[in-house]
Amino acid sequence: MEGKAFLLFSGGLDSVLSALLLKKMGFEVVGIHLTCPFFEKNLESVKEIAKKIGIDLKVIPVGDDYLELVKNPPHGHGKNLNPCIDCKAYMLKKLKEIAGESGIIATGEVLGQRPMSQRLDAFRKIEKIAGLEGKVLRPLSGKLLPPTVYEKEGIVDRNKLLSLKGRSRKEHPKLLESFGFKVDDFPTPSGGCLLTEPSFAVKVKDLMDHNELNWRNVELLKIGRHFRIGNCKLIVGRNKVENEVLKEKARENELTTTVPDYPSPIGLLTCDNPDDETVKTAASIVARYSDAKNEKQVNVNVYKNGKLIKELVVAPCYECERFMVKR
Ligand code: SF4
Repeated sequence: MEGKAFLLFSGGLDSVLSALLLKKMGFEVVGIHLTCPFFEKNLESVKEIAKKIGIDLKVIPVGDDYLELVKNPPHGHGKNLNPCIDCKAYMLKKLKEIAGESGIIATGEVLGQRPMSQRLDAFRKIEKIAGLEGKVLRPLSGKLLPPTVYEKEGIVDRNKLLSLKGRSRKEHPKLLESFGFKVDDFPTPSGGCLLTEPSFAVKVKDLMDHNELNWRNVELLKIGRHFRIGNCKLIVGRNKVENEVLKEKARENELTTTVPDYPSPIGLLTCDNPDDETVKTAASIVARYSDAKNEKQVNVNVYKNGKLIKELVVAPCYECERFMVKR
């Protein structure tokens, strides 16, 4: 056994192949899977994949410091709100913390696969930020990259590394077969990075602009329609499941609204003490998305801590698009 290899492990095919290669080289592989609401994978399927290829898996949630990085990435955002350079460096730093001096550090990155973070100069920059210059092994593209300290010290045999490049995955089936697997053995554990999606990024930006970026609010961005009414945010459920989640997620002192006499969404106002005008606007938006939308006047109930605190009569809001948080 060559010792331990700590591998950034998303559960995707590149990380699977890297793990298999490292195992073949004689390393005991520890997959490090970072969880983050911005790039969530199906954790159960990641665990299953790790088990299938016989590696240990450590699941590490990113911390609040990741949110700071999204707000103010020292090396800038990509096309949307994705801070790829700093995000990759953040991941490597986590790997370094866990690995300490007890093994080599590796990723499943492929040279030229992504424009911002997987070029040679970006690899170098990211390693430097993470304090890991020359200490990150990328087994899939290793032959095309400058030798790492592991190769220089004879811990890794450069001849056993691959020379994959670019986005193509046409080599993968053959490579997996050489390890006794098929591509179908590894269903993608779904979930790309939401920070790269324009419609999601605009909602994150809205939270940032209102100093409301926290993990709870990020999770709420994944459900409902989002409206900004002054300093207050209104989230309107789009179906029964979302309505239930919104009711559940309502914090003490936050208001929820609904139309009592018709099938209606739940609206959650995620701010403390909204003024009467804001509550009225929220009520008319909720009325607009209820089955009472064609009525001239609609009763809307307002709840706090599960108790009815106000009954309003409003006209459904047909100009409420302007409040919607969107591109
Ligand atoms: S796409 Fe998202 S998860 Fe991937 S490096 Fe960029 S910010 Fe990080």
